[in-house]
Amino acid sequence: MPPIAAQTVLPEIKVSSRGAARLKSGHVWVYRSDVLVADGIPPGALIMVTDQRGKPLGTALYSSSSQIAVRLISRERVSDFLYLLRQRIADAIKYRELVVRESNAYRLIFSEADFLPGLIVDRYNDIVSVQILTQAMDANPVRGTVISKINDLVNPESIVERVDPRVLELETLPPRPSGLLQGELTSTTFTMNGVQFYYDGLEGQKTGAFLDQRENYAAAAQYAHGETLDVFCYQGGFALHVAQRCSQVTGVDSSRPALEVADRNATLNGREIEWIEANAFDLLKDYAAANRRYDTIILDPPAFAKSKRDLDSALRGYKELNLRALKMLRPGGILVTCSCSYHVDPTSFLEMLSQAAVDARRTLRLVEVRGQAKDHPVLLSVPETAYLKCVITEVST
Ligand code: SAH
Repeated sequence: MPPIAAQTVLPEIKVSSRGAARLKSGHVWVYRSDVLVADGIPPGALIMVTDQRGKPLGTALYSSSSQIAVRLISRERVSDFLYLLRQRIADAIKYRELVVRESNAYRLIFSEADFLPGLIVDRYNDIVSVQILTQAMDANPVRGTVISKINDLVNPESIVERVDPRVLELETLPPRPSGLLQGELTSTTFTMNGVQFYYDGLEGQKTGAFLDQRENYAAAAQYAHGETLDVFCYQGGFALHVAQRCSQVTGVDSSRPALEVADRNATLNGREIEWIEANAFDLLKDYAAANRRYDTIILDPPAFAKSKRDLDSALRGYKELNLRALKMLRPGGILVTCSCSYHVDPTSFLEMLSQAAVDARRTLRLVEVRGQAKDHPVLLSVPETAYLKCVITEVST
């Protein structure tokens, strides 16, 4: 029973009092351990969720394999999911008109935060990239509706699907490669904050670029100066944004393909930037030992804490990086430091930074505490939707 045609009677799933309390607090997930009865419910089905006594809590999408078994889509009874889907896609796109400025690349749909759990859609100028993360969103009628609505509202030259093999495995969906869903164009250029970037729909990490940093790039560009080091630079997002204000910029990453695109991006923007392929931990250690000094350092490492269990080692990793960077900054220097690990909350991140400053014998002034760009909305009642931290500090002494 896929979540397709309008249904008057939905199958029911009973959840524990803990699961019910979670939904009542405004969250939208129920973990498998809180599902009491889900007999015979097919993968990806549209379901009614009820509490232990059978009282309805809302309509949800079911996954037969993920730890997140239930993702609520409405507190009401929904009989026509495809109708709701079309409406929500339109709402999500309209919201971007409100919050996105100076860019033709941004996230159009951000899963739970746009009330469309399991669906991520990004726009890179004339290419749209779709990522499907759940059984329900993978059903053919759902995919068809998503694509036709995007065509109506965005009218891209082509649509690519980005596949995360790990997600397919978790959702027991058949393996398949990333590829074109429509059109022939697989690469293009896009602009954000006046900076141009190449985009290849079938290469690169995430859905191609780190769109969630878009507003942080602009913020960093406001304070960056002098000799600048962009560590974990990927395709040069920060480096290219700050280049106009800085006397010299070096970008560091361990991925050669990322640096090759970074170099092409620099040429596209008429900038001269030095790119170094290295392990950031080793490079910072060597540079600190060699008494190198910088006016601006940007740290944007990959997520160190993939789960709660990794939290302590993640914080140690962040501290090591930040400590080394702080030691190398001249007085009046700027540190832009990021974490995209949801499990590291903003308070712990600031505490880590404060301890790193003490150990480095530096005094920090907090210039800005930032999060993800507004096209990656945060749902207050779903803390997992807020994951990116970007702290900008000035080294006073
Ligand atoms: N700042 C980038 C995004 C960084 S994503 C932007 O705004 O676009 C994290 C980057 O860290 C990836 O490009 C990855 O290749 C790189 N990376 C991961 N481990 C690394 C390591 N040990 N040393 C250097 N780079 C690393």
